[in-house]
Amino acid sequence: MASIETIAVIGAGTMGHGIAQVAALNGFRVLLSDVDREALARGIQSIEKNLAKGIAIGKLTEDDRDRTLQHIRGTTKLEECAEAADLIIEAVLEKLDLKREILRQVESVTDRAFIFASNTSSLSISEIARSAKRPEAVVGMHFFNPVHIMRLVEIVVGEKTGDETVEAVTAVGRRMRKEPIVVKDFPGFASSRLGVALGLEAMRMVEQGVASARDIDIAMELGYNHPMGPLKLTDLVGLDVRLSIAEYLHRELGSETFRPPELLRRLVSEGKLGKKSGQGFYDWSKENEDLRRAQSS
Ligand code: NAD
Repeated sequence: MASIETIAVIGAGTMGHGIAQVAALNGFRVLLSDVDREALARGIQSIEKNLAKGIAIGKLTEDDRDRTLQHIRGTTKLEECAEAADLIIEAVLEKLDLKREILRQVESVTDRAFIFASNTSSLSISEIARSAKRPEAVVGMHFFNPVHIMRLVEIVVGEKTGDETVEAVTAVGRRMRKEPIVVKDFPGFASSRLGVALGLEAMRMVEQGVASARDIDIAMELGYNHPMGPLKLTDLVGLDVRLSIAEYLHRELGSETFRPPELLRRLVSEGKLGKKSGQGFYDWSKENEDLRRAQSS
């Protein structure tokens, strides 16, 4: 397989714009694509904001910013991605049918041998590749949010993913200055399965009155050197998101570890979804208000 120089990122939302930014900063030519013209413009604006912040805190130079922006081109045309890219990374919504459809569309444009990577956080790569023309070139590249800060990329190997594909995307991950780990296509991959198990156990401990949410978080932060406790992290991810992942893992793995605790179900049904709603295991209303004020001034 020829070396990868041009990457197309499909979907310019939370993850897509971050992947595009990190790829461009590290020298790849990048096409950033979205069906929604406004979402594409917002994605590019977010990249500009991240780069400006990087300069303000001394992590990036103005030269880094200019090079990164020069390397990125936005498009609403999927065909352009298929025609130009050596690697296509999809970061559209978490829907199996949509991801399959994107793969079908790019494969129908060209016979060029590009790699198709999915940034899915839970779907099976083998299922996404089920009707692919070249399933050996379909793989998972699971980045973490925010992409320009989080150092992990999980390379997810489907039933038919070829060794060459795994090697090529691992090299891309390294060139993007991420630490790639290679995992089998199994529900929850490596990261979500362990992270969600810890979060659910912490909730059961709150239910049992073992300690407060704050003290359980402090136990993990100070006793185990986790940068953030499992309940605060759940508030940032969103309790609804965590609940749907727990239900999925409970169903797929059949393990009681992943049965969603009653407390989680109750908070979600009360609309307490974490930071985004102002209340979860913590009260975020003051912090959210301060942020709104800072953004509008
Ligand atoms: P998002 O909603 O922020 O962005 C999705 C984008 O895809 C939107 O801009 C939408 O307009 C675009 N889109 C929808 N249909 C499209 C199409 N047919 N062609 C092109 N663009 C299309 O979503 P996100 O949070 O960035 O998540 C994207 C993927 O990354 C999901 O699979 C998600 O599970 C995964 N993921 C998310 C996170 C996270 O923390 N948000 C972390 C890891 C992985």
